[in-house]
Amino acid sequence: MRHKRFLKYMLALALLSVGPALPACAQTDVHILDVGQGLSVLIESQGYTMLYDGGDSSHSSYVVSYLKQQGVSKLDYVVASHYDADHLNGIVGALNVFPAETLWGPDYTADSRVFDSFLKISAAKGLNKIQPAPGTEYSVGDAAIQVLAPSGSGYSDVNNYSIAIRVQDGDTSFLITGDAETDSEQEMLSSGLTLNSDVYIMGHHGSGTSNNPEFVQAVSPEYAVVSCAMGNAYGHPHQEAMTAVQSVGARLFRTDMQGNLVASTDGQTITWNTAPCNNYTPGSFMEVPADLPDQPPISETVSADRNQKASAPAGISSQPYDGYTIIVNKNSKKYHIPSCRSVRDMKESNKGYCSDAAYLNANGYQPCKNCH
Ligand SMILES: [Zn+2]
Ligand SMILES: [Zn+2]
Repeated sequence: MRHKRFLKYMLALALLSVGPALPACAQTDVHILDVGQGLSVLIESQGYTMLYDGGDSSHSSYVVSYLKQQGVSKLDYVVASHYDADHLNGIVGALNVFPAETLWGPDYTADSRVFDSFLKISAAKGLNKIQPAPGTEYSVGDAAIQVLAPSGSGYSDVNNYSIAIRVQDGDTSFLITGDAETDSEQEMLSSGLTLNSDVYIMGHHGSGTSNNPEFVQAVSPEYAVVSCAMGNAYGHPHQEAMTAVQSVGARLFRTDMQGNLVASTDGQTITWNTAPCNNYTPGSFMEVPADLPDQPPISETVSADRNQKASAPAGISSQPYDGYTIIVNKNSKKYHIPSCRSVRDMKESNKGYCSDAAYLNANGYQPCKNCH
């Protein structure tokens, strides 16, 4: 690769020395594929390619056909950000079809069939998976790729193992963090590495457990991109994440509403295949029956049975009442203890009050991962 770049450089010099400067024709394309609830990003520059994740099993063959359609015949870098199925399946699919040069994946193991297939295909192709160190730089054509994460180990949430990269071509830049959560975001913040980027492919499909305001502030993107499926079971993107990107003035693209997104840069200007949708509406939980009552009618018998507090309304109250112990986010369908960090950031209009976890569980609400 170095060799080819050198030749190209010499050729450019030779041309420059005999005539007027050539117009800049360098270009890097970043494709954020619509792989439903998952992530797959193709970076292409000067004939060199990096595939970062490949979506889940139902999109694996789509990713392969998309790459073929783009004229890809080999992959210089294949990056498995982490080993969750919604990222890894399509990587296995692509490795089955395309010759690959370098394989990146974090240093942990997963107990899953797709991870076994991943190990099998990489061994069959003689690919030695490495976890690149934060701060190291690589090149894909004109694009410089700097590794930002992971810098730790022993994470309780494997999403934090996500390999995060910053892609730079000239004055333009892109940040991809996979499913990195708060722990890894904090490590990136304290690493001193540049996070500021023009385009931010939002962490963990726009989840509120990633995309912390401090992190988004440090990235300060002009454009934010969410990769998720319409009506996904997680309610991605979450309100908190949408607020975070909106409050730094980022314009928004999302695959659930717009399909494949392609950003092209000549090193100075980024152009897109479509206009931003700027629709910051969080995802909703489609599988929860739409007629789930927000405020069930107060029935004396029910409330007395439920929690022996005559004063406590049954179900979810929109007003705080004596003895409530749970704050419900009516939008994300998660519930929290009153002192949870998420409650502090919750929109007043999304708040509900309750004291009956069994009722919440029975109605499709889930306890917060952080405060249970
Ligand atoms: Zn994911
Ligand atoms: Zn994940």
